[in-house]
Amino acid sequence: MSKTKKALTALLLVAALLLPMLGLRALEPVRATAAREGVELPILMYHQLTKDARLVNEFTVTVDQFAKDLDALAARGYTAVRMEQVLAYVEQGKPLPEKPVIISFDDGLETFSVYAAPLLKAKGWVGVFAVIGSETDKFSAVDDHHLKYSSCTWAQLKELSDAGTGEIVSHTWDLHKNKNGRKGAAKIAGESEAAYRSVLAQDDESQRAAFAHAGLPAPTVYVYPYGEYSAASPKILQELGYRAAFICDARMNTLRPGDTDALMALKRYIRKPNCPLPI
Ligand SMILES: [Zn+2]
Repeated sequence: MSKTKKALTALLLVAALLLPMLGLRALEPVRATAAREGVELPILMYHQLTKDARLVNEFTVTVDQFAKDLDALAARGYTAVRMEQVLAYVEQGKPLPEKPVIISFDDGLETFSVYAAPLLKAKGWVGVFAVIGSETDKFSAVDDHHLKYSSCTWAQLKELSDAGTGEIVSHTWDLHKNKNGRKGAAKIAGESEAAYRSVLAQDDESQRAAFAHAGLPAPTVYVYPYGEYSAASPKILQELGYRAAFICDARMNTLRPGDTDALMALKRYIRKPNCPLPI
């Protein structure tokens, strides 16, 4: 072996040893770029709105407060988007507005239709409206419009959906309760995965049937009641046709094209009354 060949072999050997380390190093700037290219998506969570300041509580803010929130978001450069746009960004790389925000409302209450939707419409914005199907059904069967507690009817949901002011998503058909040891749609300790799967599937079958009957698009987003879920939940929901799920965790989401797993546990900031906007 000539001196040159020996030197070359030694060089290759060193290179072979160093390359994995160098390779990792070389990837870091790429990762940093990907992180920069990711989109921060804050999600706000509201429940009830009221015009009576005496009724304000942990889950109720005034209509005036909500209107001010929308103005503040607009002033900060945010644009409220639909979850369909978020899915298109993550699944297909379609661009989102520069500062997207999701304005979500849980529990399907009628005040969304009466108070929130007109304010959202004035900005050309949309709210993601999570409905409990069995409650919607109850209020669709009676003529009870007490805004302190009433839920939207299926007809109201269809109007919101058609008008583009409400993107209607699932808050389960009838799992919004703590019953027999089950918290919302979470798995009970010791329950088999098959049994758990069948509970979620049966509940969802009723929800999907009702959505179809009301002429609403099939739900693609699942909002866990009380934010409770289990390790087995995301996969089961994906099998049922869901492409995203909301939890309750007051943190920012960073989304990147291709990272569909992140969609199955989207964090949200609960909007508490009488305190500054969390974003
Ligand atoms: Zn709820």
